[in-house]
Amino acid sequence: DTVGEFAARPEYLLQMLIRLQEAENWLPPEALTALAAALGLPRARVEGVAGFYSFLHTRPVGRYRLLFSDNIIDRMLGSQALMARLCHTLWLAPGQVSEDGLVSVDVTSCTGLGDQGPALLVNGRAIARLDEARIDRIAELIREQQPLDAWPADWFRFDDNIQRRDALLACPAQPGDALQAALAMGRVGWLAQVHASRLRGRGGAGFTTAVKWQACRDAPNPDKVVVCNADEGEPGTFKDRVLLNSHADLVVEGMTLAAWAVGARRGFLYLRGEYRNLRPALEAVLARRRTAGWLGAAIGGVAGFDFDIEIHLGAGAYVCGEETALLESLEGKRGTPRIRPPFPVTHGYLGRPTVVNNVETLAKCCLIALQGGAAFAATGTPQSAGTKLLSVSGDCARPGVYEFPFGVTVRQVLDACGADDTLAVQVGGAAGITLAPYEFDRRIAFEDVPTAGAFMVFDNTRDMFEVAHNFVHFFAHESCGFCTPCRVGTAMLADTLDKLAEGKGSAVDLIEIEDLDRLLKQASHCGLGSAAPNPVMDGLQKFRPAYERHLMHADFAPAFDLDGALRRARQITGRDDAAAHLPQHQEPQP
Ligand code: SF4
Repeated sequence: DTVGEFAARPEYLLQMLIRLQEAENWLPPEALTALAAALGLPRARVEGVAGFYSFLHTRPVGRYRLLFSDNIIDRMLGSQALMARLCHTLWLAPGQVSEDGLVSVDVTSCTGLGDQGPALLVNGRAIARLDEARIDRIAELIREQQPLDAWPADWFRFDDNIQRRDALLACPAQPGDALQAALAMGRVGWLAQVHASRLRGRGGAGFTTAVKWQACRDAPNPDKVVVCNADEGEPGTFKDRVLLNSHADLVVEGMTLAAWAVGARRGFLYLRGEYRNLRPALEAVLARRRTAGWLGAAIGGVAGFDFDIEIHLGAGAYVCGEETALLESLEGKRGTPRIRPPFPVTHGYLGRPTVVNNVETLAKCCLIALQGGAAFAATGTPQSAGTKLLSVSGDCARPGVYEFPFGVTVRQVLDACGADDTLAVQVGGAAGITLAPYEFDRRIAFEDVPTAGAFMVFDNTRDMFEVAHNFVHFFAHESCGFCTPCRVGTAMLADTLDKLAEGKGSAVDLIEIEDLDRLLKQASHCGLGSAAPNPVMDGLQKFRPAYERHLMHADFAPAFDLDGALRRARQITGRDDAAAHLPQHQEPQP
């Protein structure tokens, strides 16, 4: 029943697994077997995909599955104490299922609600603004076994928290306005305007959008695809959530503008699983646009311009924000980044020429169609045209989404959001850069401080070691495991910071961190692995005392308790020679 129209279409495997889990609460072995047969896939492939995504469960979980957002900002807002309170109330240990199978509680990576945390997901649906009263009420509702539809509806709504509007967020255009303008220019004329705009991708890498589109348009295969990457998983970012919630027409229209430029007939909006609350409203936008003639056949009355969009859900894998991993996921596979070349613009979704653009990039295309490329390029900096949306969270009076022209300084953003006594700003999320106060006059721009949008503020009460500690665990958890340097290196980095956090570190551990940085940077297959040590390396360079406070010895301390490991052997043999005990730490000889 789950498979229906998608029988023998293996690219729908992930979507089928998500549906199956919604029906069954988890993925029982016999259901995986049946799904493999229906889709014409080996069972091992189905199991491999089911095991890859953290929101899919191949073992029973509670009928109520609660996942607390474990971003550092949620922690600063008290998420750990609230989770402990809920577990205590429900007589449950984190990570376990209650004996009656009713409930399980655990953590997940950032849920994209840093401006209104702490947050959790219950059966995939996000609840923000947690406090003790809300946690106690959640425990009661679970004990009463109330269905989620009977929970207070306002818990499942988010605020946009738009604090500063500029060209995009203040855009007065009506649905179809930008598209009509671009249709009037013709495909070639429209692409020329995108070239003139100097638009660069807002997802982090900053590749020139028109160059990407031109390469896709020029690819010989006529079957082109447009993909909207709505999988913003970088800790601390949430601006795409706001665009999808309140400016969805601009995003969908941007996808249609991309299709007009490259000649695509098919589009996908890949929505991160954490944002599934937004799906019904997005489907409604698509339906409205089909009725209005802005999606479907002969769009805007132009014969031969046929284009439509499907929404695909992600399932809790940060690495799928990388465009080739996203394409693998869209094809129903594990989200493992591909080896490039070939690039997606020539060999993307199912081998077809594909453009993958970020939500904000696509929305910005509407401005270019409305104003013209030159007007768009008139704001910003020489290498960074236009405006940038920032997701501001942490120690400030007014967290939320801010739109500034590129070139704004970090200090200007701090002033706007009401941040006092700031110790550091993490720009670009866990994979980004940690800025100390002497750098607050640096500019948000590709030529200085590039960012996909996350802007996390830490005041002088915070410990920057703890911030990096949280980030390295995030990377160790999110490593897809494909390549050994990242799989092992991120785990070793997390272990080393755990050792420091326990007060057992030594100067040798700091040297080992530098070795791991070199390994991860040189040998990782994708950006996740190479970026994983960034917060620690920045911290060591700019906030070294925060790390040195955690050192037990200034020279060397072993990571392994050899004497303790021999305890069992002593018991078995009945021998315990006092002289054979090894001292744990060799103090330096005078
Ligand atoms: Fe996967 Fe990490 Fe290798 Fe990237 S670097 S492919 S995330 S294991």
